[in-house]
Parts: sequence; C-alpha cells; structure tokens
Amino acid sequence: MPNDLSAALAAAAATLSAASDVTLLAHVNPDADALGSALALGLVLHRRGKAVRVSFGAPESVPETLRGLDVAGLLVPASEVPAAPEVLVALDAGSVGRLGPLADRVGAAGAVVVLDHHVSNPGFGTVNVVDPEAEATALVVLRLLDELGAELDEPVARCVYAGLVTDTRSFRHATPSTHEVAARLLAAGVDAEAVARPLMDSHPFGYLGMLAKVLSRAGLERGAAGGLGFVHAVVTLEDAAGLRPEEVESVVDLVRTTAEAEVAAVLKELRPSCWSVSLRAVSRVDVREVAQVLGGGGHRLAAGFTAEGSAGDVLARLRAALESVAG
Ligand code: 5GP
Ligand code: MN
Repeated sequence: MPNDLSAALAAAAATLSAASDVTLLAHVNPDADALGSALALGLVLHRRGKAVRVSFGAPESVPETLRGLDVAGLLVPASEVPAAPEVLVALDAGSVGRLGPLADRVGAAGAVVVLDHHVSNPGFGTVNVVDPEAEATALVVLRLLDELGAELDEPVARCVYAGLVTDTRSFRHATPSTHEVAARLLAAGVDAEAVARPLMDSHPFGYLGMLAKVLSRAGLERGAAGGLGFVHAVVTLEDAAGLRPEEVESVVDLVRTTAEAEVAAVLKELRPSCWSVSLRAVSRVDVREVAQVLGGGGHRLAAGFTAEGSAGDVLARLRAALESVAG
C-alpha cells in the first residue's frame, strides 16, 4: 500500500475513534458496495458506543435486497440526517454531487472522511482514503476496520462481501490478494450463495415480462463506438411499473452480453424526460471518459450519467460522446 494511503487510513481511524457521533452516507441510488460499506463501518462504530446513522439522498426507500445487511437498525431516512453532522463519512461517492440532496452536509460537517475507489475522486473530504486500485469501496473499508482493530464477525463480513461480490462481478475482476480477502470473509462465516443470490440472481416473475418488452426494442449499431459496436436498450417508467429498482438495474447485465458490441447502454427513465444511463464496456473503451463528457463518471468498464430529454436525444448525445472517445 502506498505511504500516503497508509497515512490517510491512520488519519481516518483517528478521526472516527475521537468522534462521538458519526453520519455515514452512501451515494444516491445506493448499491451493495455503497450501502454494504457504510453498514460494515457503521456497525463497528455503533458497537463502540458511538451514535451512528447510515443514510443516502435518494430514493426514499432502502433497496429491498440490501435491507438485511442492517442488523443493528442504523438506516435512517435522509430527512433525519443532521444539518451539521459532527463527523460525516462519504462512501463510494466519486464526487460531492453523488450524495444528491445530502451534498450540502459536506460543507457543514465538523470533519468529512471520504472512503472511495473512483479514480476521479477529487478528495472532497478533510481526510481522503481513495484507492483507485481497490476493486470495491468495501475493500477500503475493510482496511480501515483492520486499522481500527475491529473484530471481523459474520454481520460485518457479510456487508463487506456484498460490496465485493457485486463490484468484482462475482470475483471476475479480482486480484489474487482480493481473492484472499474473500477467503477471509468466508472464514468469518459469510454464506456466499445466501448473500449473492438475492443481490444478483433473483427477480420476481414480472421481471421476465419486462425483459421481453425492453429487450425486443434493443438496438445494435455495429459501426458505432469507433467500429467496436454499440448496443442499447430503454426502460421506461411504464416498463418498470410494479417492479423494484433491482430489476431495472440488472437489465444492463443482459444487454452487455451482446457479442457484437464493445459498449452497452441502458437508459432508465427516472421521471418523464429524465434518464439515468448505465454504461458498460467489455475491455477496450473507457466508458468513464464517455460518461464524463456527459456530466457523469464511474470506472473504466462501468460508468453512468444522468440526462434530460427524449430517449432519442439522449442516445444521440451518447453516440457523439462515444465517437469522441472511441472514434
Ligand atoms: P450503474 O450503471 O451501476 O448505475 O453505475 C455504474 C458506475 O457509474 C457507478 O459505480 C458510478 O461510479 C457511476 N455512475 C452511475 N451513474 C452516475 C451519475 O449519474 N453520475 C456519476 N458521476 N457517476 C455515475
Ligand atoms: Mn463501488
């Protein structure tokens, strides 16, 4: 580990050890890495007698598949996050904006600890532990837990595992040392199948009908993305009616299997004329750069942005950004 990262970890541990009240925030529309990371650290701090709350700016409800990670009841609605937290911890948020409606707490907090793995993170905290080499923020959190001398028992290990298994796509993007971390988590009692199946492999029957509609309208542009191929699909509010965000978020995992396309995109309608867009690449296009052109961010092979307009308008802007990066 580089020296500056070790120093940042020590500073983060010192800040948290001295705190009596800690607010942990995941990014908007939190995934298993963001919320698992927050709950793992939150649980350890809660056991040390600190007042702890975990939250996120939007949506209002906690994703159903992540609720079971909160064994100590630490999750609170965004409306219960103090205006000026004593110590704020931001997890898996590559920029202040990713905290959404809670972004203003960063300027108001007594101290801000940033724990993240986005290469573009500007370091918006008073203490920044940002490791772009880490496959998941959960790994950064585990290092911090070790720095704090925390016991890694099953509930904590489960939260870390949830973030790790999803961000590494079931350990396909994991170094040998990350596999060793996984072994440590399993040895702590994590049931891998019981954690991963609800997160990655389980949907209500209505999912199949939604997929049938959405995938039948998918488009393939073989010449796009500099000739590497581009596949896209659109999930409208009508398509998603009655289904959870989990079903909508997983559409991109099917679209990305298209062999003729290096880049996959799924446009998810948030409200009329407003789209959250997921981008994925196989290996050769840096979709973070593409997302950044359009005001978003992410990682080299998984990124995203938010855009206004019709689906056709958003796709046209995306095509142009793809050509500017991959053309
Ligand atoms: P997903 O497609 O799973 O929602 O997001 C993939 C990655 O892209 C996330 O880990 C996050 O880093 C990034 N991302 C997704 N949406 C946005 C966005 O609207 N803005 C920014 N800055 N990054 C995003
Ligand atoms: Mn992550």
